[in-house]
Amino acid sequence: MPMPQTKARKIIHIDMDCFYAAVEMRENPQLKDKPIAVGGSVEGRGVLTTCNYPARAFGLRSAMPTAQALKLCPQLILLPVRMALYKQVSQQIHQIFHRYTDIIEPLSLDEAYLDVTDCEQCSGSATWIAQQIRQQIFDELHLTASAGVAPLKFLAKIASDQNKPNGQFVIKPDEVADFVLNLPLKKIPGVGKVTSEKLAKMGLLTCGDVQKQDVRLLLNQLGKIGKSIWDFSHGIDEREVQAHRLRKSVGVERTLRQNIDQLTQAQEILTELYPELERRILRAKPDLPLSAYQKMGVKLKFDDFQTTTLEKSAVQFCPETFSQLLTQIWTRCQGRSVRLVGLHVQIPEQKQNEQMSLW
Ligand SMILES: [Mg+2]
Repeated sequence: MPMPQTKARKIIHIDMDCFYAAVEMRENPQLKDKPIAVGGSVEGRGVLTTCNYPARAFGLRSAMPTAQALKLCPQLILLPVRMALYKQVSQQIHQIFHRYTDIIEPLSLDEAYLDVTDCEQCSGSATWIAQQIRQQIFDELHLTASAGVAPLKFLAKIASDQNKPNGQFVIKPDEVADFVLNLPLKKIPGVGKVTSEKLAKMGLLTCGDVQKQDVRLLLNQLGKIGKSIWDFSHGIDEREVQAHRLRKSVGVERTLRQNIDQLTQAQEILTELYPELERRILRAKPDLPLSAYQKMGVKLKFDDFQTTTLEKSAVQFCPETFSQLLTQIWTRCQGRSVRLVGLHVQIPEQKQNEQMSLW
């Protein structure tokens, strides 16, 4: 018997345009045409979280060290991060989302997926709904947003970037195959520099290239993400918009006052971070014993700003586990010094009945 035809989903990805900077410009219109950035200080070895378009014209971008940004753009107006304010505005944006759907999955304060498959407003047109949401955000909050509309999550996210800022882009169900064919793999969310370089070495640049390969090749070369890349390349993304996304990990990390290049220095930092991690875990999940955590990882950021993570499953939560991970990951330094050390644990998946109680 044929499978029942599943209705194509309607997913909107909303992404605010340079959110923190936009909020700051709204609060102080005099900043509007000047290059501004929100971020950490040079003294604190901070990085930019967001910058406006005049600042981007100087080559500035988020995650750039503030010191470097000021060299490129000495007249940059650097503003401190006002998280409480951005959170408040984010809640107002979510109130607008809720006029259309309750299936909202936030990715950060300024980005969210919305499932509007069953929304009856705007004659059920996701394109029109996205348009209205952006208009209401503009009218009521004086901020601009970009939107992507697609039947699949990863395509909605790619689409929201397509006509940024203050624009939107729609990929209809019957356009998915064509859109995916020439899509560069590096545009897929989660495919970073390292993975796209690996793919390029395999001769794979677009989703069309991947379509000609066997799934096993990608699995063998790249593991789990290889399977996702293969799926996406075939226009498959079964992930649902998760309105009640559970917190998946708890971590602690520290940007160092001075870079380090010795493993013994890193081990000392680990000793300092470990008790803080323990505190955060117990705060996040007071009822879960530490012995329940079995997957943990260590993260390093190098002086060239490349980030690397090493995770291990079926291990015990104790300082020795992190120490071993740190020793292993340290071989990736390859002459580079380290500017950030982080530790994290994955929260074990909750049992089905516990999840049900959410409803
Ligand atoms: Mg944004």
